[in-house]
Amino acid sequence: MKVTLIEKIRETQDIYSFIFKPEKQVTWEAGQHIFLKIPHPNPDNRGIIRHFTISSAPFEKNISITSRFDIEKGSSFKKALLKLKTGSAVEAFNLRGNFTIKDLKAKYVFIAGGIGITPYRSILLDLINKDRSPDIVLLYCCKAEGIIFKDILDEMENKYKWLKIHYIIEPKLINGEIIKNKVPDFKERIFYISGPLIMVKIVEEILSKLNIGKSSILKDYFPGYE
Ligand SMILES: Cc1cc2nc3c(=O)[nH]c(=O)nc-3n(C[C@H](O)[C@H](O)[C@H](O)COP(=O)(O)OP(=O)(O)OC[C@H]3O[C@@H](n4cnc5c(N)ncnc54)[C@H](O)[C@@H]3O)c2cc1C
Repeated sequence: MKVTLIEKIRETQDIYSFIFKPEKQVTWEAGQHIFLKIPHPNPDNRGIIRHFTISSAPFEKNISITSRFDIEKGSSFKKALLKLKTGSAVEAFNLRGNFTIKDLKAKYVFIAGGIGITPYRSILLDLINKDRSPDIVLLYCCKAEGIIFKDILDEMENKYKWLKIHYIIEPKLINGEIIKNKVPDFKERIFYISGPLIMVKIVEEILSKLNIGKSSILKDYFPGYE
């Protein structure tokens, strides 16, 4: 499917969101991802295709993706994406993924590492749009200067009692004590973890030490950032 860039938003110093209008109406489940193909001159060994979580919610209709850009060491793909002009069309395909909410009666802990916040923006907005209110605690590990979507997250937390957000700002790192402290009923909850692979692995180890079974954990890791 062809998607046309209609807006580019600078979220933080090095994070941008790109809003694409699909050529025809498309549906997806909040938390899913899509592949983008951006042919460009002299692609490096990482090539011309990347997965991105869709950071927009299905009711927003346009497909947004949000990504981090390393101006010096970044890939040729990211350079081409950042240079994309509004009005340009690219190929998007393979919309899929199971990092979605299955049980609306369950209680959740969402853990995000930096750019891993992308699926939660979509999931939370989708729940609000559908008037659903599962009990959710979001633990968002980030740098003080890089809190992506802070305005909309704060707005949602202020408005909806079922959502609690705790920012874990570097140099503080997530650990078992923080989880026990911020989420006293953590044993009754399903854990979602989203972020760079190394962060997801560390959180999995922490959860294993807290005796959280694998069946209570769903992961979405973003390779390429290690
Ligand atoms: C299910 C899923 C969902 C995802 N969702 C998102 C998302 O929402 N947002 C997002 O940003 N990413 C997401 N990703 C990851 C994304 O697909 C890319 O892998 C990631 O953004 C890194 O992009 P990049 O390879 O272009 O490297 P860059 O982001 O440009 O660079 C990252 C680092 O890799 C190194 N590097 C860059 N190019 C090369 C090279 N050619 N060879 C060796 N090292 C290099 C550099 O040290 C650089 O600092 C997702 C991945 C998956 C599987």
